[in-house]
Amino acid sequence: MFDLFADVAVRLPLTELFTYRVPPEFADQIEAGRRVLVSLRNVEEEGLVVRLHRNPPDFETLPVQKLIDSEPVLNADQLQLAEWMARYYLAGPGECLFKMFPGGKRNPPRVPENKRRKSGDVSGFAPAHDLNAAQAAVYQAVVAGLNANPVANPEAGRDTAASLSPGSGAVQSSRPPAHLIHGITGSGKTEVYIHTLLEALRRGRGALLLVPEISLTVQLIERLQAVFGDELALLHSALSGGDRRSAYMHVLRGEKRIAVGTRSAVFAPVAYPGVIILDEEHDGSYKEHSAPRYDARQIAHKRAADHGAVLLLGSATPRIETAYAARVMQEQTGFVYHSLGERATGAELPPVRRVKIASSQTPITGELLNEIDINLKAGQQSILLLNRRGYNPFVYCSSCDTTQSCPNCSVALNLHKGQRLVCHYCAYTRAFNGACENCGGEAKPIGSGTQKLEEYLLNLFPNARLERLDTDAASKRNTVRDCIARLIAGEIDILLGTQMIAKGLDAPGVTLVGVLQADHGLAMPDFRSAERTFALLTQVAGRAGRGELKGRVIFECLNPENPVIVNAARQEYEAFYREEITERSDAVYPPFCRIIRLLYRSEDDDRARTAIERLHIRLSQRLQPASGELATILGPAPAPLEKLHNQYRHHLILKTLHMKRVRNILAELLPEERARSRDRLHLEVDLDPVDLL
Ligand SMILES: [Zn+2]
Ligand SMILES: [Zn+2]
Repeated sequence: MFDLFADVAVRLPLTELFTYRVPPEFADQIEAGRRVLVSLRNVEEEGLVVRLHRNPPDFETLPVQKLIDSEPVLNADQLQLAEWMARYYLAGPGECLFKMFPGGKRNPPRVPENKRRKSGDVSGFAPAHDLNAAQAAVYQAVVAGLNANPVANPEAGRDTAASLSPGSGAVQSSRPPAHLIHGITGSGKTEVYIHTLLEALRRGRGALLLVPEISLTVQLIERLQAVFGDELALLHSALSGGDRRSAYMHVLRGEKRIAVGTRSAVFAPVAYPGVIILDEEHDGSYKEHSAPRYDARQIAHKRAADHGAVLLLGSATPRIETAYAARVMQEQTGFVYHSLGERATGAELPPVRRVKIASSQTPITGELLNEIDINLKAGQQSILLLNRRGYNPFVYCSSCDTTQSCPNCSVALNLHKGQRLVCHYCAYTRAFNGACENCGGEAKPIGSGTQKLEEYLLNLFPNARLERLDTDAASKRNTVRDCIARLIAGEIDILLGTQMIAKGLDAPGVTLVGVLQADHGLAMPDFRSAERTFALLTQVAGRAGRGELKGRVIFECLNPENPVIVNAARQEYEAFYREEITERSDAVYPPFCRIIRLLYRSEDDDRARTAIERLHIRLSQRLQPASGELATILGPAPAPLEKLHNQYRHHLILKTLHMKRVRNILAELLPEERARSRDRLHLEVDLDPVDLL
């Protein structure tokens, strides 16, 4: 009998797998998808078994040291997906595999067979609302592409057998049916989701629903739980490790059929997924910010294609790329565009006034204060968005003309309550005594953040029930949930906060929304700053007047005539889209090209610069041969955030229309680059980055 060997991926940016011998005592239990302990270069590493075989390699093998867990943590589909993901994002298979399941050790008890629902059983699941005509039309179009599970549901499989044959555009087609619901806030996208999820279950399939942030989607989750009860597995980072692991294992074993969660829930091993839904598809949180920098929207697309599932994206402010794919490129992308243009309750969108900020002396304009006062007297609720936390965003010294900046990052320090200067990137903190660190002169706090606004309002309206919600206030667990619950219950008069308060909130008593420094985000040197600002303003404006009372909105800005602000104020997505798509086309940004960012960082500025220059030379030879350019290369240059966490950052931006070929060239060059980089030099690869800062 030949020995058994395991090919193992470790959690490092390495492209190769490592082969270990399986000791006889593990031979019965070891499986692909199991976690193991192995020794790599004399260091104990956690690994994942990718496959087992009996082909002895031509080198001396080490034994697998230990099996972790009592059962596999990944299934065959996920192992395959990781392989694709590693190629797609130019990452190591181990890095990808370890992103797919939550940590934690203890597995939940199994749900006994007789307590599980049969495939296709939806008895007792009843949506609270019927669909109106507009919603029903979208729903019909979406479920038309939803095939029954041919394995679990033989009768249902019969009439769809033809459509399941290879090449017919159903299972394993490379282009799944995909739908974009462009629905204004309050238009009832959630109802369409609920009915679609139910239909997927009825047809014997599972489903996946992704949301940007769980704490802010409490209302959505509660509605889902009311309909689907125990069939729902919640997967998000606010859960304790154990709860998350437990929910995940229920999905992996097929004990729960609907997974709901944030970004990494896109990997949830739902069996036979029939529909994959991404709510608020424009949200930046769908992009992972550490290696591998995957995008849950792309992973969802790939999974839908692999499983013949329907992809459903919803947003009031779709990304420019998604809108373009669904409206202009339908033929090529297979996307179908749907518009839900009216609030389901029939309520009108609130009118928005744009107010110019006249003085920087007060954190808020007289006009907005006036409206708040009116609301307080009428016993109505107000929401104020100021997307800057802390007390003052800058501390400036006029003697030497500098702002107090972080020693680890090339950004200004924010002044927080208690005279603390804080870096919002690396959390560096020091006390502030009024003196400039540079010259010892007098340094003055400038501008206002949420803490200053809170103090200012409390002085003016001492009897108002005021709450602040930002990451400083929300670090305590459940604060967000409590705060939202109290707002809905009418126990808060004024809720002020950062972008956390802009999303998903449905509080019928809110009749005034004010946005302070509404054009602040437009100053970011990034091609998506207009898109992000437009989405944020539109979202928050949609919080006003969702109930019976009419709402009103004020945007305070330095330049009220900026087209992004004007279009957001009018809730004119069409006009915004037209302006933005023209700009993207002129400047050649997505969707008119794809972008890859390559960034070297090091504590040693010279090292990072030399490395990026060397990479630039190697790349230009390959990407810009005399026979024709495969990619435009911008840089090398210091990144806009030149230094972060004490690391200097230098980057190259590649813009290309030939992603596959460029990716192949990078796949050849990068292993050598990575091998050369040592502890003090790191290479970051970002495909389709969401920002270039
Ligand atoms: Zn100074
Ligand atoms: Zn810092």
